[in-house]
Amino acid sequence: MRRAPSLHAHGAVHGVRGIQILKILTRAEADDAPWSPNDIILWNEDADERYAGSISTQGKAFAGKITIQLDTDEVVRPGDVVRLSEKKSLVSILYRRGSTSNSLFVTEQCNSLCIMCSQPPRNEDDRWRLEELHRTVTLIDKDEGQLGFTGGEPTLLGHDLGSLLAACRSLLPDTHLHVLTNGRLFANPELASNLITAGGSKTVWAVPLYADVASIHDEIVVAAGAFDETLEGLYQFALHRARVEIRIVLHAMSLPRLPQLASFIYRRLPFVEHVAFMGLEPMGFAKSNRSRLWIDPIDYVSTLAEATHHLAARGMNVSIYNLPLCVLPRELWPFAQRSISDWKNVHDAVCTQCVVRDRCAGFFLSADPTWRSRAIAPIRMLEAENEVA
Ligand code: SF4
Repeated sequence: MRRAPSLHAHGAVHGVRGIQILKILTRAEADDAPWSPNDIILWNEDADERYAGSISTQGKAFAGKITIQLDTDEVVRPGDVVRLSEKKSLVSILYRRGSTSNSLFVTEQCNSLCIMCSQPPRNEDDRWRLEELHRTVTLIDKDEGQLGFTGGEPTLLGHDLGSLLAACRSLLPDTHLHVLTNGRLFANPELASNLITAGGSKTVWAVPLYADVASIHDEIVVAAGAFDETLEGLYQFALHRARVEIRIVLHAMSLPRLPQLASFIYRRLPFVEHVAFMGLEPMGFAKSNRSRLWIDPIDYVSTLAEATHHLAARGMNVSIYNLPLCVLPRELWPFAQRSISDWKNVHDAVCTQCVVRDRCAGFFLSADPTWRSRAIAPIRMLEAENEVA
């Protein structure tokens, strides 16, 4: 059964004390698991005193220390890590087995205020998250392929972020980590060294850069001096031979100098291992600033093609995220990725008639028709089977 994209379910939840973060497992897995029985909720099994409790998606009520009777069978599955609160019906998924988009949400605070931020920051102390994040990391599958770190700006945690990265490295040594950061605090050589060392060779630092000139970048991130700090941070990454990805969100303020930015990245930042051009996510500030940001992608694909080919022709690794295949010229299809996190990814009604639906990024759940290109139309036929990588 296909899972619903939501990371939250409701149900009758009993026996929870305070906040509890627990792993859901079938009995077959639980009996052989690397976790304490007190960390485990049994999936569709009657109570077993050894375990923390049981969870049902089939309308059954089991006896046990913690019992959860879910309203839906489309959200939670064995392997997931869930957060439960005393006297609350909410079951939140913190880690979803099988998803390629698992992320640790590190903080809501940020030192920038980007004009298209999909997750507007809140200036509240939320260091309480750290304890929950450390707990969550202990319950993630040991063979998890990738784990993201997001916010807010994760580096505002300073050395506490280093401790969290080190915990991941210790508990999940084979997992690739992907940290979204504006890079500004990496201008501090001591913090940069600490975080890059803690992340190790399986961590990629994804840093946004929106222009080749300070005035435009700073205007987009609404922070004077940000361009210089980010560049300083990027050179710290280079100094430590860290793995870096540059992210560029495409909108009316970043597009006019996109070709110049591509040239700048090749000339000044040749050490980055990946450049991602990203369609706009219509959430948060992007929605409220639509009049300053929105361009139908079909009207900028020639600029995008110029920037993409400039970098690719020089041997740089380039991707295009969040844009449907039908708005891209076929020459750009090899760069297009299914990039939208599974829990917020949808397709249009017309996509049912499209032969590339399974390979297409589709749309953000938040992209109502006013945020979709006028060029959306099903692809009826491929000229060659290898048209999409
Ligand atoms: S019709 Fe839908 S599935 Fe096909 S390319 Fe366009 S957005 Fe993608």
